Amino acid sequence: MSLDSTRAEGAPRIPRDVVSGSGLRAPHRVWHRLGRGLVGELILPDQNEYDTARRTADPRFDTATPCAVVRCAHEDDVVHAVDFARRWGIRAHVRAGGHCPLGSSTGPGLVIDLSPLSGTVVDGDTAWCAGGTLTGAFTEALDAHGRTVPTGRCASVGVAGHTLGGGTGPTGRGHGFTLDSLTGARVVLGDGHVVDCDADHHPDLFWALRGAGHAAYGVVTGLTFRTRPARPVTEFLLGWPADCRARVLAAWQTWGPHAPDELSTTATITAGAPDPALSPATVSGSWLGEPTGVEHLVDDLVAAVGQPPRVRTRATGARNTTPGSAIRADDVGARSLVLRRHEFFDRPLDATALDGITAAMDRGPRVGEHRRLTLEAMGGAYGRPAAESAAFPHREALFGALSEFRPAVGATAESRAAQEALHGVLRPLASGAAHPNHPEADRADWRQTYHGAHHARLEEIRVHYDPDGVFGFPLAQTARN
Ligand SMILES: Cc1cc2nc3c(=O)[nH]c(=O)nc-3n(C[C@H](O)[C@H](O)[C@H](O)COP(=O)(O)OP(=O)(O)OC[C@H]3O[C@@H](n4cnc5c(N)ncnc54)[C@H](O)[C@@H]3O)c2cc1C
Repeated sequence: MSLDSTRAEGAPRIPRDVVSGSGLRAPHRVWHRLGRGLVGELILPDQNEYDTARRTADPRFDTATPCAVVRCAHEDDVVHAVDFARRWGIRAHVRAGGHCPLGSSTGPGLVIDLSPLSGTVVDGDTAWCAGGTLTGAFTEALDAHGRTVPTGRCASVGVAGHTLGGGTGPTGRGHGFTLDSLTGARVVLGDGHVVDCDADHHPDLFWALRGAGHAAYGVVTGLTFRTRPARPVTEFLLGWPADCRARVLAAWQTWGPHAPDELSTTATITAGAPDPALSPATVSGSWLGEPTGVEHLVDDLVAAVGQPPRVRTRATGARNTTPGSAIRADDVGARSLVLRRHEFFDRPLDATALDGITAAMDRGPRVGEHRRLTLEAMGGAYGRPAAESAAFPHREALFGALSEFRPAVGATAESRAAQEALHGVLRPLASGAAHPNHPEADRADWRQTYHGAHHARLEEIRVHYDPDGVFGFPLAQTARN
């Protein structure tokens, strides 16, 4: 399993501290040599574009001052940037959509920005996309060929970032996690080698990428997916008033995770500032079948809630319109701050727990603060592959719970405390696992939470493919434990 190393023995190493903070103190000639070798751009702190180039989609990390940003327009640029980072002992921050809630796609080191490396090729039942392609562009290209791959809805999320951590979405109970459709990947390793991996080539790397691949083993420059024919999708939304929230969650949790695979649903409750797009208690779903086929299922839910919804809408797309269409790429809340936390649950919540959750949601929101808790049904095709089939270990979950708190201006600490209080109620009832696509820096045991029983094997694979530690698990570098 050994790989040749391209590392030049005795190559000069700039100590890490010379590139920390906002200073670029490495000799200019060294950087300019890197810049001259690129098809894309090297952006240094003294350039006008730097201030834009250094920022991610998350305003919490606006204070990060990378020593440089390489905007990669060709795979060779990635190789040059990785080589440079390794030779000079600079940490690499790999970025595509820039949504990582840990801020791992920025920092004091060298940002390897893949966003110019974008494009999708659809060929029969296979689709290939470049490592910086965003979900919106990917799904548009698939739509144009009448094909689909299950992804999330947010158009500005990177396909690689979404897939490498798992990937749930509105057709997931029918088609599985996004990672389950991945059939191969091309990776620039820490030693500068480029490898293609799939079930037969570097199968250990391919296994690890699917669930624990966020920049831990290398930079993924291309992804190959098995596609399916895009079938019409019926989307529905039901809305109830605030006093139905516990009742809606109670009815949904025994319905959504056990529905036929064709039905993927979420139940959402909100508190604080009203969300004009949502009632305080909603159930939304996507149905992969004849539009009329879902009506009796929805009626079952309404009967279980015991009160008719005040909003009930249904629309059928000509094709699989689910991913990418709902949120525009330039509309990530205009980069507004959203605090996200995630838990998986293996069993339903009882009435006392549901009352505790709604009470925690309602405790003291500030004017302008918005709070949302979304339960997403698992089961179906999410749970079918064996836990060992990919690094993603949490196949048995009944549902996931994602809280999203949008703080009032100047009151982030208060929002964070309120969210922690909510999770103080949720966590003892949860399974202890969480989705690697919603990582948090302060989980007590991130290895168990995100990688479960797979962590030891992942660590062996990481050491093998990145012996110099050019990458490393983002959580290992940001977690406080
Ligand atoms: C509005 C919104 C909605 C979301 N909805 C869902 C959802 O429905 N389901 C779900 O599963 N997730 C969802 N997510 C989470 C999202 O899938 C993850 O945060 C994802 O990792 C973001 O990828 P990115 O490229 O946008 O971010 P980045 O910050 O660029 O990357 C995220 C991580 O992946 C690494 N990375 C990125 N590209 C590569 C690459 N080519 N090679 C190697 N490493 C790479 C980065 O270094 C970083 O560690 C949502 C996020 C947001 C903001």
